[in-house]
Amino acid sequence: LFITLEGIDGSGKSTQADLLAFALEQAGHTIVRLREPGGTDISEQIRHILLDPQNAAMGITCELLLYEAARAQLVHECIKPALAAGKTVLCDRFYDSTTAYQAYAGGLDRAAVEQANKLAIHGCVPSRTLVFDLPVEVAASRAEARGAKDRMEAKGLAFQARVAAGFRSIAAHEPDRVRLIDADGSVEDVFARVCNALKGLVDL
Ligand code: ATP
Ligand code: C5P
Repeated sequence: LFITLEGIDGSGKSTQADLLAFALEQAGHTIVRLREPGGTDISEQIRHILLDPQNAAMGITCELLLYEAARAQLVHECIKPALAAGKTVLCDRFYDSTTAYQAYAGGLDRAAVEQANKLAIHGCVPSRTLVFDLPVEVAASRAEARGAKDRMEAKGLAFQARVAAGFRSIAAHEPDRVRLIDADGSVEDVFARVCNALKGLVDL
């Protein structure tokens, strides 16, 4: 089983991933928790380059290819072996983030981004993808409470709004795989929606 969690910064992905990992473990799954960009030594090094405020000169194509490079290594080193061993993989962000950030919000050609995504994932398509949908102002105030902004988060509310619209569009195009979750509510309420969105795949 391969589940990915998506959404704008501060939408509650990691909070819900923690709860979901615990619930799945209780249900007998062996969980592999991953995050993007990152999750392997090489991918974490690439994450550092991507998020370093000193790299403000980075062009969008370089950005795309670095995300894909980090992803390709994560698929190769972690996701494929874990799935082959029958484990359940929970990944905080995956290729839908690239479609939302670098294509919908960043302006890169969507077909080109889809090709790059395809190359990086080697056939590892998530069984289900949960998109946490939240007004950008609410997400920003949650994220702000956590302190320092990285290079990507510094892009502002208008950019985040384009990302959020991108995620909604992805969910509308692929309703079987991608489920939009209203992330505006208590942690417990949102988690109930998460469990509901996984019905048919896992019953929690
Ligand atoms: P990022 O992508 O920026 O890492 P994220 O989507 O993983 O963010 P979290 O780190 O889970 O989001 O949550 C952002 C902040 O909002 C945290 O401080 C978290 O405690 C808080 N938070 C998470 N869920 C809720 C909720 N339902 N209501 C209020 N606050 C929440
Ligand atoms: O979710 P996390 O905080 O780990 O993501 C790191 C940063 O990278 C986020 O601020 C997010 O906006 C950005 N990002 C991006 N394009 C992606 C994935 C993440 O701009 N494809």
